[in-house]
Amino acid sequence: MKIHEYQGKQIFQRYGIPTPKGYPAFSAAEVEQGAKKLIEETKIPVVVVKAQIHAGGRGKGGGVKVVKGGPAEAKAVAEKLFGMQLVTHQTGPEGQKVQRLYVEQGLDIARELYLGLVVDREQRRIAVMASTEGGVEIETVAEKAPEKILTEHLDPVIGLSAYQARKLAYGLDIGKGTPNPKETIAEFGKLLAKLCELFEKEDCSLCEINPLVVTKDGKVVALDAKINFDDNAAARHKEWLELMDKAEEDPVELEAKDAGLSYVSLDGDIGCLVNGAGLAMSTMDIIQHHGGSPANFLDVGGGATKEQVKKAFGMILSSSKVKGIFVNIFGGIMKCDVIAEGVVAATKELGLKVPLVVRLEGTNVELGKKILAESGLSIQPADTMDDGARKIVAAIKAA
Ligand code: ADP
Ligand code: MG
Repeated sequence: MKIHEYQGKQIFQRYGIPTPKGYPAFSAAEVEQGAKKLIEETKIPVVVVKAQIHAGGRGKGGGVKVVKGGPAEAKAVAEKLFGMQLVTHQTGPEGQKVQRLYVEQGLDIARELYLGLVVDREQRRIAVMASTEGGVEIETVAEKAPEKILTEHLDPVIGLSAYQARKLAYGLDIGKGTPNPKETIAEFGKLLAKLCELFEKEDCSLCEINPLVVTKDGKVVALDAKINFDDNAAARHKEWLELMDKAEEDPVELEAKDAGLSYVSLDGDIGCLVNGAGLAMSTMDIIQHHGGSPANFLDVGGGATKEQVKKAFGMILSSSKVKGIFVNIFGGIMKCDVIAEGVVAATKELGLKVPLVVRLEGTNVELGKKILAESGLSIQPADTMDDGARKIVAAIKAA
């Protein structure tokens, strides 16, 4: 799960990680008030108005504005930002609608660095990555100048060691040009230790500060904050519900989550209804193998009710990108007649305008086939999963 920059910074503040002072805003008037408060409190006349969307690259896309003309100008800038479709390299061409802003004090930046923590699955450790090339896309640095990324892996028992923090600090030459280099190095070490603590306690999968800045007076400050939580830990974090911004999530995935289904939207045009995550994965593979492309991953699970199956099939039916549907069920705990009833109920409501291939096997298979046969729906039955995948790919090509 992703959260906004301002929410990430609020968590940083709880852990004592320095951030610029700032206020979230849901209207232009709130941005004006926030700017006024900031200027009074910090005595700095510059504020920065930042679009809050779950994607990076906002600066380049025009979603981060430095304002030097006081609260009135901040308000004017906010009026332009609210409601805009912000396009960045992470949003896709349609962009993401700006509905929240963050107004924060402007800092006098001397250097922009990169600092990120991520779970390195191969090493089975948390990797700390740092680079002097902050402010730009780290993916580009990784590709063009990988030697500029310094990496340290955390020991799962000991956590961050002091020598690792020092190694990174010297690698970044973090004290370079600052009034008191030793102090700046020590500050970096403290910040990194807190970030490591936060990463573990808050169950993050990614925690990125890009840029981590060194100010002209030698302070180390998190200027941006990107936190992704590990969804597997959701049961431990009731507070995540409040942090979730539903406007940023895929609406169909949210609907599926509410219905207790595992659903992931994909780019293809073959809707899949499958039971069991393993079978769902292989179904996507075999569709791809025969030259098709799945529109979704959907596992209705073992204990789905007729209502859940109806809901799931309805979600696939109502998707405009779906050009054909493949139902692939191996009834173990799941009963084939429950699937058939759900499919029939959903098509009665929504109609069936695309080819439908069904492969049923297992518990109550005869009853399931009978329900489908008597429904009057135009269904192509398949004997095996391979047969079904071939048939749906062919049906779409023919249409
Ligand atoms: P994104 O990564 O989405 O582009 P950032 O928060 O990293 O957004 O901001 C982009 C750039 O804007 C930063 O690299 C920095 O140069 C500038 N910037 C952002 N916040 C401030 C601030 N509070 N003071 C001064 N400059 C800022
Ligand atoms: Mg950034």
